[in-house]
Amino acid sequence: MAKILFVVNEHPNEAFSISAARQTAKILKKGGCSIVWYKVPVKETMLGKVLANKKTEITHKMFNKDVQKSYERAKSLVKKYKPDLILNFHSTPHDDPYWKVKNKRRKGDFSIEQINLFGGKFLVIEVKAHYKPMPERILKKSIVIEANGPRYGEIGHYVTETTSHQMTRENGLTPEAFGKAIAEKVNNYLKKNGKVKRFERGFVKKTAKKKKTIRKSGRK
Ligand SMILES: [Zn+2]
Repeated sequence: MAKILFVVNEHPNEAFSISAARQTAKILKKGGCSIVWYKVPVKETMLGKVLANKKTEITHKMFNKDVQKSYERAKSLVKKYKPDLILNFHSTPHDDPYWKVKNKRRKGDFSIEQINLFGGKFLVIEVKAHYKPMPERILKKSIVIEANGPRYGEIGHYVTETTSHQMTRENGLTPEAFGKAIAEKVNNYLKKNGKVKRFERGFVKKTAKKKKTIRKSGRK
């Protein structure tokens, strides 16, 4: 049985990705995987820092520290749980240039990027989502420094806007469809690596159908 570690909430403004992760976990669990669910406490995040202070300056240095912390966290979680695979869930705004870059792994409305860590067992998953501004009380608490260039490529986005489940759903992107499509990819990955002996038959077939739907509905 493959043990899969889910890491969610590194960016608390990406709550939609947690819903997609939950659906993915549900399917993988049905398929025979054992799931370890790790939700990063908000206080350990950049947004957590903003919430805890009156005024916070958001800088690239702060962001880089956050990324470093993410790898260190993963390292200690791997040591503790010894998973066969780590899935790190995130979301990216639907109109971000990220989705326009031609990349084999970015064909649909999500991407799975294999990070060269822990023997390649570390996969970063980005799902497409629609965003709305953070509540005013949170916006008041941060000053975004060095905010040049397109807004989504910038660090300020992590504290100034947040995913909207409603808007994302209205645009045909659902956690359920993401869950099915991503679980299928993960299943294939596990298969290649000899970790899916206990997956149920027909598991891939069932999910493959839905994947087409999600691509069609989400593309512009
Ligand atoms: Zn993220």
